[in-house]
Amino acid sequence: MTIKTVMVVGAGQMGSGIARVCAQSGFDVLLNDMNEAALQKGLSSMEKLLSRNVEKGKLAEEDKTAALERLTLSSDLKDARTCDLVIEAVVENMDVKANVFSELDRYAPAHAILASNTSSLPITEIAAVTNRSEQVIGMHFMNPVPIMKLVEIIRGLQTSDETYESIKSMTNQLHKSPVEVKDFPGFVSNRVLMPMINEAIYTVYEGVASPEDVDRVMKLGMNHPMGPITLADFIGLDTCLYIMEVLHEGFGDSKYRPCPLLRQYVKAGWLGKKSGRGFYQYN
Ligand code: NAD
Repeated sequence: MTIKTVMVVGAGQMGSGIARVCAQSGFDVLLNDMNEAALQKGLSSMEKLLSRNVEKGKLAEEDKTAALERLTLSSDLKDARTCDLVIEAVVENMDVKANVFSELDRYAPAHAILASNTSSLPITEIAAVTNRSEQVIGMHFMNPVPIMKLVEIIRGLQTSDETYESIKSMTNQLHKSPVEVKDFPGFVSNRVLMPMINEAIYTVYEGVASPEDVDRVMKLGMNHPMGPITLADFIGLDTCLYIMEVLHEGFGDSKYRPCPLLRQYVKAGWLGKKSGRGFYQYN
């Protein structure tokens, strides 16, 4: 199937990055969010980052203009009727995603593929709320989307070969590297990464070391480019908590229990960089 028009649902840190990469790769893009302020923020961050690339000589001014011209803002999921592919990037919560998918299934044309950027939720369960399970797939981009090369492609139980091949080829068109994984909690990336982040938060919770020192140990000792506490703030502490809950419930193993300090920060609204405060403070 030829993909020409893409709708990205959710204009947060991931959705705006996905929309930008799609627009820069020549796709017509509709960026949707239920929150008008989030849409405007997504657009202005996209404009700012594209302009920065022009200033650095990494992007031609006309390519920036062309990418922005291919982008349209949308606040109505009914706009999915013109799309060949919808990539959902709303909050990491099954109830919210299930509602979005059941609406998208109603509005998107019969040929359209519905993809989720979920970090951990089962694609098979998301697909079950639609009448097109064979056209539902996981497209897990990494943060920050324009920089990170990997896209985990998650096949639900009923995802067809045709859907998989279309998404693999589209991922290559975005100049990203697709890696196929099975539909298991956390897939590969977050099943390996998130327990490490959770354990790092436990070391802070138990007073073993400060956030700065935990990060220093992992950067200087393990050659990680970014410490796990900084990375947690960067991902979003709410997203980290959702993923730990999915792993905990999905495997029924206590080794995945979320750290109480993580829960407390999320309850306080300290969600990391996006809210201005997490383990660190941001201006
Ligand atoms: P975010 O909180 O920055 O953005 C979520 C956006 O979704 C918000 O703008 C919100 O207004 C919007 N939204 C919520 N419900 C909606 C609805 N019903 N219709 C339309 N818009 C709606 O979150 P994020 O960090 O961009 O994460 C989005 C998804 O991407 C999650 O599933 C997350 O697990 C996944 N993900 C996140 C990261 C990361 O590092 N943050 C990495 C990979 C994947």
